[in-house]
Amino acid sequence: MIPRFRFAFPLALLLPLGSPAQTPAATENAAFHPSAFQTLPLGAVRPAGWLQRQLRIQADGLTGHLDEFWADVGPNSAWLGGSGEGWERGPYYLDGLLPLAYLLDDPTLKAKAQKWIDWTLQSQRPDGAIGPVKNNDWWPNMLVLKSLMQYQEATGDQRVVPFMERYFAYQSRQLAANPLHEWAKYRWAEELLPIRWVYEKTKNPQLLTLAQQLAGQGYNWQQMYAQFPFTEPTSTESLGLSKGLTDKSLQAHGVNNAMALKMPVLWGMTGGTAADRQSIYQQIKVLDQYHGLPNGLYSGDEHFSGRSPSQGIELCAVVEAQYSYEQLLALLGDPQFGDRLEKITFNALPATFDPTMWAHQYDQQPNQVLVNKAKRQWSTNGDDSNVYGLEPWFGCCTANMHQGWPKFAANLWMASPDGGLVAAAYAPSELTTRVGKTDVTIREETDYPFRETIRFLVSKSSKKATFPLRLRIPAWADKAMVTVNGKAVADAPKAGTFYQLKRRWQQGDVVELRLPMDVRVQPGYNQSVSVERGPLVYGLKLGEQWDKLRDRPNQADDYTVRATTPWNYGLLLPPAIPATAFQVQERPTTGVVFSPDGAPMELRVQGVRLPQWQMEQNSAGPPPASPVAKPAGATPETLTLIPYGATNLRITSFPVVRP
Ligand SMILES: [Zn+2]
Repeated sequence: MIPRFRFAFPLALLLPLGSPAQTPAATENAAFHPSAFQTLPLGAVRPAGWLQRQLRIQADGLTGHLDEFWADVGPNSAWLGGSGEGWERGPYYLDGLLPLAYLLDDPTLKAKAQKWIDWTLQSQRPDGAIGPVKNNDWWPNMLVLKSLMQYQEATGDQRVVPFMERYFAYQSRQLAANPLHEWAKYRWAEELLPIRWVYEKTKNPQLLTLAQQLAGQGYNWQQMYAQFPFTEPTSTESLGLSKGLTDKSLQAHGVNNAMALKMPVLWGMTGGTAADRQSIYQQIKVLDQYHGLPNGLYSGDEHFSGRSPSQGIELCAVVEAQYSYEQLLALLGDPQFGDRLEKITFNALPATFDPTMWAHQYDQQPNQVLVNKAKRQWSTNGDDSNVYGLEPWFGCCTANMHQGWPKFAANLWMASPDGGLVAAAYAPSELTTRVGKTDVTIREETDYPFRETIRFLVSKSSKKATFPLRLRIPAWADKAMVTVNGKAVADAPKAGTFYQLKRRWQQGDVVELRLPMDVRVQPGYNQSVSVERGPLVYGLKLGEQWDKLRDRPNQADDYTVRATTPWNYGLLLPPAIPATAFQVQERPTTGVVFSPDGAPMELRVQGVRLPQWQMEQNSAGPPPASPVAKPAGATPETLTLIPYGATNLRITSFPVVRP
């Protein structure tokens, strides 16, 4: 029998917030391990430069308008008191709409988000239950709690914490009779985030009981990864999916695994063990080994499907992996999670949208040469999964995709427990925060990831203040340089670490970080290679013919895309690749940076066409095993590669041809 909450009122109502004496037992218990870094409240970071323009594109695209014509998040949503959709779609939408609204400080979007917040807060039932009465699943409630955390941090609304405490008490009483099932059983650790967040504010020891109840009913992902069963591509048959959802299918599910990236660490810091906290490294290793794709993710279309670059990964998995890596970076303070976060954010995320962000794919392919409705080699998905449109295959991504860019922007900066600031990921932005008793604004001026230099300007400081500033030095940046007010630092920053600058800061101080970006060639499927430079992966630029597949007047349309130029090239690369093999060309950063025409970078490399490499099942066939002999009489051509995120069609995994 699970112990019930012993108090009649949430402790937060009885005791002043922040009083250290309120629950000494919980502090001694120390099962809630503090995270290495603290995420900053929504609103502390403001986007600038290309990032600001990208968020504006998103706001002017589907995110800012979806509720106007897509019924599942429209005015009849059960999450707004109507009779419509009452499961995950409303909360998914809010979880991205809300941070976008506050990052852009956009009154129209804020008002749209507020409707969902107000209905949710006002409709809590006397027993503490939340959300639509018809929903009997814990899963969508976990999502709405994530939105409420962001909202409370942005606004300070005092209704939020008591609301969550009443809900947690209610859930703790109910879980024995109504246990986690299906999605909630596999996604349970999402709730550890709001539990930990409320615990920080209230130190209520019952929250640990609830965390333990959830862990007792939830799936143990670290056990699965210790003896990983999905070493081969899966299928409807192998997962038993023809009879409906199975446990096996939920375990091999791309999105569930993206969420699960943070699960063992979160549990390890909320009641679990040191082994739990370390198991993320095994998770990443196994995913890369059996299902890794060159865009920083693994295949999941929508279940594990092996390493062929013609397999896909679902957009929901992209944004959930981003969120997991943001949390992992804060929880463990390991810079490699920042590297992975940037790789996914700058490549996989923008690639799967059209440049206007009015259309998205369900599944993107690293080698994607034809986008249309046709039978493909997906493990379990439908024929329209790589179409650019409103709701290709299934509407989960239509509801969930909105969180990708805003949460990345909000998590560019973090705080360290020694009173310092952490530049966790890089993009143009402005941070306004309080360090000790000093109000500080730091402008981050950069065109990173398209350029190598990042300039931090202490643009405002209420007085001089001493604190450490940590800069993430990516693992690929082995020649990083830092200057402070024009003077080079004495100790060279080391790749794959946080470089710490501790000094007495004052207004006008300038730190310049240079991350020289050499072109790197990464091995992949069938000994193919993908090309990287800095955090960007590069793909072959192809001519594109876009055609409307479905017209929805005053809504969002669906499109097919076919290549108008050849794609079946191998790269002419000697075994020891000289620096001159790739020519790097900078182009303006002022356009739509994630579009073929606005791409701010180009690489040129020599290649030859490989006639034996052809389409298979409406996708590029697997790249022929490298090295490939140069076809007789083949003429070398200069190929143009652009950032993966700027492509809509591309080759990313290239066969290698020896000159
Ligand atoms: Zn989805």
